[in-house]
Amino acid sequence: MIAVVTGASRGIGRGIALRLALDGIPVAINYNTQQAAAQQVVEAILNAGGRACALQADTGNPSQVDALFQQAEDRLGPISILVNNAGILRRGSLDDYDPAAMSDMLKTNLDGVIHCTRAAAKTMRQQRAGAIVNISSIAAHGTSAPGTTWYAATKAAVETLTKRFALELGPSNIRVNAVAPGFILTDMVDPATRETTIQTMAAKAVLGRVGQPEDIADAVAFLVSGQARFITGQILTVDGGRTDFLSH
Ligand code: NAP
Repeated sequence: MIAVVTGASRGIGRGIALRLALDGIPVAINYNTQQAAAQQVVEAILNAGGRACALQADTGNPSQVDALFQQAEDRLGPISILVNNAGILRRGSLDDYDPAAMSDMLKTNLDGVIHCTRAAAKTMRQQRAGAIVNISSIAAHGTSAPGTTWYAATKAAVETLTKRFALELGPSNIRVNAVAPGFILTDMVDPATRETTIQTMAAKAVLGRVGQPEDIADAVAFLVSGQARFITGQILTVDGGRTDFLSH
């Protein structure tokens, strides 16, 4: 098994890459701008006796994505695991809709998932084996966190595509699932309000804490493993039991 994890230079993607490597899976660490950080993830995996390489690509750019998968296969071997983790949050609501910000989010959060899934599916179909996990967000389910209206819409689309891709790829023995994280402590959190945000978000979860990248990584490791062999088209919420939903 060989994995590609997008947006793995930091945050949740980094946690996922390190966790898959612990399971002995060689990992292509995709990054967009942070080459040094991506290289540090690679070094950590190599130092622990694993295999990894860092590969730059903007996942919203289809030709860069094709090159990413070609390089990953040349360096590590045929891809059988894809984690579509790369994502960005641009805050906004009905009162301050910014078309450029929306376009940026659609390019990374939605187009990126489509381009990477199409590229990975080529090899997975030939092998008649594969597991894909998309990183969504509980924002897609109606959480009441303010300023995430348009981001939520991009993640809702990711969840719909998770089910549609599961339908399209299931006959080729390729499983497609999603993990919907709650609040996870990463660089996505505004440093200016970090401490207040942590307290507020911890109070919203029945488990009384915010999440760490490892909380998501363990869920992803399960979904790509043989233990999840009969699970496809599912959205697994990993949020410590959030209580501020408009609906479930
Ligand atoms: P983060 O700390 O901001 O890291 C984002 C990662 O995505 C970085 O590695 C970045 O690469 C990469 N990236 C961004 N745009 C990219 C592009 N166009 N092409 C390739 N890579 C790109 O984010 P995070 O908090 O770990 O979030 C990871 C995922 O979880 C996202 O999909 C996010 O929506 C989702 N999520 C996060 C939370 C949370 O509370 N943190 C909650 C729900 C869902 P570079 O650094 O190299 O530019």
